[in-house]
Parts: sequence; C-alpha cells; structure tokens
Amino acid sequence: MKDAANENLRRVYRGELATEQAAKDLEAREDLSYDEVREGYAVLLKAYSKLLRETMIMTRLSDRSQHKLIKLQEELRHQNEVIKAKEGKLLELNRQLMEASVTDSLTGLKNRRFLTSFLSSELERLKRLYNQPPEEKDRVEGTLLFVLVDIDHFKKINDAYGHPVGDEVLRQFAAIIEACCRTSDFAVRWGGEEFLLVCRDSRRGLGRLIAERLRENVLNHPFRLNQHLEIRCTCSIGFSYFPVAHQEHRYLGLEEVVNLADQALYVAKNSGRNAWVGVIPNPAYASLGEEVPLELDMLREMGYLDLITSLESTAQLVL
Ligand code: GH3
Ligand code: MG
Ligand code: MG
Repeated sequence: MKDAANENLRRVYRGELATEQAAKDLEAREDLSYDEVREGYAVLLKAYSKLLRETMIMTRLSDRSQHKLIKLQEELRHQNEVIKAKEGKLLELNRQLMEASVTDSLTGLKNRRFLTSFLSSELERLKRLYNQPPEEKDRVEGTLLFVLVDIDHFKKINDAYGHPVGDEVLRQFAAIIEACCRTSDFAVRWGGEEFLLVCRDSRRGLGRLIAERLRENVLNHPFRLNQHLEIRCTCSIGFSYFPVAHQEHRYLGLEEVVNLADQALYVAKNSGRNAWVGVIPNPAYASLGEEVPLELDMLREMGYLDLITSLESTAQLVL
C-alpha cells in the first residue's frame, strides 16, 4: 500500500518536472506564432490540472503533497502571468505591423492601402445614407471632399539638388498638408510627389477654402534644405466631392471621384500651375441617368458640371 502511494508520488513528481521543463522550453521559443504559443500553454495547463487533481487526492494522505500542491498552484499562477505578458507583447507587435503597413515611410502620412481599406466602408455608409427617399435625403449632411495636390516641377528639384534633397522637400510638403488637416481628415501620399487630402463630413464650400489655404501655405513656405539652400515651391490642386451632387442616381465610387479631382488637377497644371480647380455640379446634373460619363471636359460642355478656380476667371482654364 505504502509502495503504491510512493510510486504515485514519484509519478506526479516526474510529471511535474516534465511539465515544468516543457513550460521553460516553450518560454524560450521565439520562433513560435502567437497561436502556437497559446496552444502550447493550453496543453501544459491541461497537464497541470491533471497533476493538480491527482495531487489533491494525495494531499489528503500527506503533508508533502500539500506542499507540492501549493507549489503547483504558484507555478500555474506564474505561467498565467507569462502568457499574459506574451499576449500583450504580441498584441503590441501586431498593432505596430498594422500601422506600418498603412503608413508611407518617407513622409509618415497614410498610404494608398489605408485609404482603400478605410474609405470603401465609409463610402458604403454614405451611399446608404444618401439612398433614401428624397425628403429624407435632403436632411443628410456631410460629404467627403477629395483634394489632390501635386508639386509643380518637382523633377527639376531632384535634377538640380539630388534625390535626398527632393526627399526632404517631400517631407516638408507633407507637413504643410498635415497642418491643413482637421483631426477627422486624412492625408495620404498618393504617388511620388502627389498627395490626397480627404476631409470627412465637409460642407460644400470647404473645397475652395482648403485648396486656397494649401496653395498659399506651400507658396509661402521657405523650404530650408540645408545650411546654404532654401528654395520655394508651388503646387497645383484639383478637388471633387462625394457625392458629386445631392441628387445623384448612381453614386460614383472612390476611384471615379478621385479621377474627377485628378482631371481638375491637370486643368490647373495646364492653366499655368500654382492654382486650384474644383469640380461642382450644375442643377442639370440631377437629370443625368445611370450612365455618367467620366470625362470632365464632356461633362462640362454638356452643362452637367462646372469648374471653379483660384485663377481670376474660369475663361483662363485650359482643359
Ligand atoms: P509637374 O509640374 O507637371 O507635376 O512636373 P513634375 O516634375 O512635378 O512631375 P513629373 O511627373 O515629371 O516628375 C515627378 C518626379 O518625382 C519624378 C520622380 O523621379 C520624382 N519622385 C517620385 N517619387 C520620389 C521620391 O520618393 N523621392 C524623390 N526625391 N523623388 C521622387
Ligand atoms: Mg508634379
Ligand atoms: Mg505627379
């Protein structure tokens, strides 16, 4: 009888040693994924629980077992803390990875991936709001404003002073754009020297204010690039709204609305640069059917859309 009890005790002891070793091994493994670590600890916890149950039975038999039980409980608590610490570290690592995958490394602004993933749900939400009966729709406020900004003659800066200086211009340019943002807006590096500002819940009329502020702030910013070099830059800007008009039949998608802003930007380029051009709907836009042509010059000629600009007159616009 005594031999059997001793054998049981030895078995539990061996089990405990083996589980302890397995826990240490698991703790040392840096190569395992979060799920694998969790799974490993789940198996160990099961083993501990089994040992615990057996020990509890034997506790009734000996003080030594009681001591062992306390030790096992402490070990369990410790292992739980280790799991929690690892969990916290993994969550933080995950967050950092997510952040890096949607951030432009040169400027620190968001990248295109961020915009497409975030905005597709935002656009769907707005489409649902606008797809209501006319009387309800009139009460819906808030549009998305897309402002596309492109540095004028940026290639010349690279050619004259080198790529690293060009990079510094991009960083300072991004900071100007960010300074024009409200907390609910997004500034995205859209391409090499092209940026997209998205203003949420904007009123119509915000476009001209933001575009003019951007144009002026860029124009007046001394780009200090090193001790001996300070240059000036200008930019061209195009903007459009989602929805283009309140009474839209088929709401344009993200790409289509940005495409309108892009066409407006190129009108600003063609018209002499250091200027902004915005797309606004004419009342006739409401009579457009499902098939909306996407060429700005055509939409304008047909009287559906109009352009506004920082230039003295729209007659100066070159489409
Ligand atoms: P425009 O006024 O018509 O916009 O002329 P631009 O010279 O600004 O435009 P273009 O498209 O001809 O040239 C853009 C240049 O931007 C070419 C490319 O080498 C440069 N570029 C793109 N990405 C980067 C970057 O990350 N760093 C630097 N330094 N240059 C870049
Ligand atoms: Mg450019
Ligand atoms: Mg460009």
